[in-house]
Amino acid sequence: MSGLPNIPHPSNEPVLSYAPGSPERAALKASLSAVGAQQIDVPAVVAGREVRTGDTHDIVSPHCHQRVLARVHQADAATITSATKAAIEAQRDWGHWRFEDRAAVFLKAADLLATVHRQLLNAATMLGQSKTAFQAEIDSACELIDFLRFNVHFAERIYREQPESSAGMWNRMDHRPLEGFVYAITPFNFTAIGGNLPTAPALMGNAVIWKPSATATLSNWHFFRLLQEAGLPPGVINFLPGDSIEISNTLLADRHLAGIHFTGSTPVFQSLWRTVGENLPKYAGYPRIVGETGGKDFIVAHASADAEALAVAMVRGAYEYQGQKCSAASRAYVPDTLWPEVRDRAIAMVGDIRMGDVADFRNFMGAVIDRRAFERIRGYLDRARNDAGVRILAGGGADDSVGWFVEPTLLEVDDPAYRTMCEEIFGPVMTVHVYPAGRWSETLALVDRTGPYALTGAVFAQDRAAVAEADRALRYAAGNYYVNDKPTGAVVGQQPFGGGRASGTNDKAGSVLNLLRWVSPRAIKETFAPPKDYRYPFMGEA
Ligand code: NAD
Repeated sequence: MSGLPNIPHPSNEPVLSYAPGSPERAALKASLSAVGAQQIDVPAVVAGREVRTGDTHDIVSPHCHQRVLARVHQADAATITSATKAAIEAQRDWGHWRFEDRAAVFLKAADLLATVHRQLLNAATMLGQSKTAFQAEIDSACELIDFLRFNVHFAERIYREQPESSAGMWNRMDHRPLEGFVYAITPFNFTAIGGNLPTAPALMGNAVIWKPSATATLSNWHFFRLLQEAGLPPGVINFLPGDSIEISNTLLADRHLAGIHFTGSTPVFQSLWRTVGENLPKYAGYPRIVGETGGKDFIVAHASADAEALAVAMVRGAYEYQGQKCSAASRAYVPDTLWPEVRDRAIAMVGDIRMGDVADFRNFMGAVIDRRAFERIRGYLDRARNDAGVRILAGGGADDSVGWFVEPTLLEVDDPAYRTMCEEIFGPVMTVHVYPAGRWSETLALVDRTGPYALTGAVFAQDRAAVAEADRALRYAAGNYYVNDKPTGAVVGQQPFGGGRASGTNDKAGSVLNLLRWVSPRAIKETFAPPKDYRYPFMGEA
């Protein structure tokens, strides 16, 4: 075709309600029954070929850990090595596809996800990662659809970014994909991030090796199949479940490593970066390193804050998805003048929260992701029970007999440097420090300097001068900053997401800033009438 096609303008995918009687509720319930009744076999896929090594890892439901949902074949050494060759081979063709052809694959994937496969992905996310219907809908449906559609729109902006040309010449920018393959390493907690990290570089013409998180492989596998159905050619994204250290050791030592697209914990990201540094002389270029990592996200309230809004933000921000959002509120600073009302409201709401099997839609919370997470969180609760200056105001219990359940827990601490105020717990634990209302400025400084992270944070105040002071004092304390709102729930295209300091490279997933990391521009100058004489006019005799 000849023409300059207009890319469809994206808008955010509407969040369905799943209210009783709605068609989406009936469809989701049917998918839950179907996905829960099966035990599927998940292979690695390299160059479009399914590889079953026979060395399998079970995927279970966190809220019912005896139920095996899938058996995942772990990639072996030969499969890992073949994935790098497959990616490089595939990119030779894919990297030259027209943008509209690449874009069409991902736009079709978005449509398949919005329609025929929506409830399959939601059910797999609910059962495999223990999300409620609403938490799955905003993740595996809406956010992932938004990533796919908005990225196409942002990519178009990059391609339209072209230089000026003087008379007699034409200057152009060729926004090339990187030379080599991109390694996408994805976390358990968002199916949308699982889908975005491999597809964003692929959209820009790169070939990718995707290592899904062991505990999210069920939903991630269904999304990979959806991409194949949408027309993604073999080898452009290679699906490689397996031992993360073995896979990383091979891929990070490869001369053709062109980039890492990571989301997960800070220590893992730092170890990847360190290895890349050590391997630098081996590489053909300088690998792009993009990582969004941990957080210790705050809510700080001024004495003028609305106590009711604050308490709701604390409860939703801290306990939705069992506190396993990188953006989850986990430390709060509340003035003594407001605390009695906020505390009583928060305790009442926590007492009202139902936790259990996510297929029972009355539950607000499911289980934490696996035994390791359960033990880690329980360790914090055990210490809190015995440490001086710590009061457990709500929750504090944990029970792993059926699933890995941890109660929504509210702690109050005297010491603002107590470990649960500083360390990422990644569970349903909110710690509050009550400060004298007159010490607002000092408290802002405390919020800013507590812990190494800077991912999300929220200020609650009705006094405009207090809002302005916080805005300035906390400018570098969060990459996503909220005023009178909870610090979770970023929407693609509206609040581009990412943090600074130890929380990552802040390349803002689902934005033009992220996509720019996956291109290596070539500037082209074409001269229409090249000079025919080497001498310049000033050299003539007077
Ligand atoms: P994780 O670091 O344990 O795992 C992330 C990925 O890295 C997984 O695929 C895992 O298999 C892999 N991995 C683990 N060890 C590795 C190693 N040594 N080498 C290479 N890969 C390795 O994180 P998680 O538990 O899946 O996710 C939770 C973490 O992710 C939290 O710290 C959370 O804050 C963070 N997170 C951040 C964002 C963000 O946007 N900033 C979003 C989601 C999650």
